[in-house]
Amino acid sequence: MATRAFNGGIHPADRKDATSALAVTRARVPQVLRVPLSQHLGAPCAPTVGKGDRVLRGQVIGDVEAMVSAPVHSPVTGEVVEIGPVLVASGARVQAVSIAPDEVQEFDRFEPVERGATVPETVRAAGIVGMGGAAFPTAVKLQPPKGMEVRTLILNGCECEPYLTCDHRTMLEYPERVVRGAELIASAVGATRTVIAVEDNKRDAAAALEERAGASVEVMVVPTRYPQGAEKQLIWAVIGSEVPHGKLPAATGALVHNVSTAAAVADAVDRGRPLMERVVTVTGNVRNPGNYLALLGTPVADLIEAAGGLHGEYGRIIAGGPMTGMALADLSVPVVKGMGGIVVLDPGDTAPAVHGDQPCIRCSRCSDACPMMLEPFAIGIYANRADWDGTQRFHALDCIECGCCSYVCPTRRPLVQLIRRAKQVLLEKGASL
Ligand code: SF4
Ligand code: SF4
Repeated sequence: MATRAFNGGIHPADRKDATSALAVTRARVPQVLRVPLSQHLGAPCAPTVGKGDRVLRGQVIGDVEAMVSAPVHSPVTGEVVEIGPVLVASGARVQAVSIAPDEVQEFDRFEPVERGATVPETVRAAGIVGMGGAAFPTAVKLQPPKGMEVRTLILNGCECEPYLTCDHRTMLEYPERVVRGAELIASAVGATRTVIAVEDNKRDAAAALEERAGASVEVMVVPTRYPQGAEKQLIWAVIGSEVPHGKLPAATGALVHNVSTAAAVADAVDRGRPLMERVVTVTGNVRNPGNYLALLGTPVADLIEAAGGLHGEYGRIIAGGPMTGMALADLSVPVVKGMGGIVVLDPGDTAPAVHGDQPCIRCSRCSDACPMMLEPFAIGIYANRADWDGTQRFHALDCIECGCCSYVCPTRRPLVQLIRRAKQVLLEKGASL
């Protein structure tokens, strides 16, 4: 079926070749895991274990009653050696349970979550969150508000960020889990149509899914173009509906979940398996780029070691993809549920630091590239002057922070940072998205 092209977008070099053909391998168990109690959007968990406790792989170590949250499980059998704040990729410090693992781990044995409950209840108990980066608790998305009908479930297998291939490998190596997850989610939300959308630079993954998909699941190949995997752009490509301004994507009747999240849902429902580990692409200037199955709480430094260590000169090290990820100031930060990649950029790939007053030459490239049809240069100018009303008039809050504008700007204006700041101020002043 033909798909619809969204407005704007860019074609950055995808740099996926280094890892796209490499099978997932398990990263070794670190000496100490630091498992944050907030790896999701919503209320942080409180620890349910104490220092000195022995914990089993799969045991709940943090939970909270709040609706928008997700419990946290121990990825190993071992001893709790510390409970206290640790640095995470965003630069914040959050409470974490540090665990010294036993020398021998049996990865196929774990404390199962209770099954036999509804799919949303099992998904909540398993601590599943959006694994594409958003980390929104999946169980909440499985219970759409009353009056909001979900007709189409879209599984996002686009992985449009350069360098990242963790979703690609998941679709290729575990297609039955992805398809099964799609079926479970569709039945939970009552969707009558299920589409797995895969960019056309991953045709092998699309073929693997096709082979497993029964009549109830369509595999749709969509053009490779950044940010094809952004929720609003994907809904447009698949069902041709625009998310109305100020409304949730569900207002279109479509619900989007990431393919790795779907695989985790299948694991939880069929095997009682909580979310304790994830595939992380470690690539760029490392000796052995690859896709590593990493225990949550593994320090990024250990994963870089697993990939043979840093290689040659390097610039920034990014958690996530280079377009939307976060530059790391410290490699002790742990792998969390939403972290799909560690990218060690070449010094040449790192844009020189510039100040907010770098002049705009009014070339309009940023507006042409913006998939939300905004005028990023104008928002940037107002944000620079701290004229927040001005940023709101130019719809700063509609920005999806895809980074296309910064990418194309010839004078390297830090447009996303300026717009992100404007959004933060506007939200603090009470504006709503
Ligand atoms: S970051 Fe925001 S303003 Fe810039 S291109 Fe993306 S949506 Fe448009
Ligand atoms: S791309 Fe950069 S220089 Fe061109 S209009 Fe946008 S902000 Fe100005």
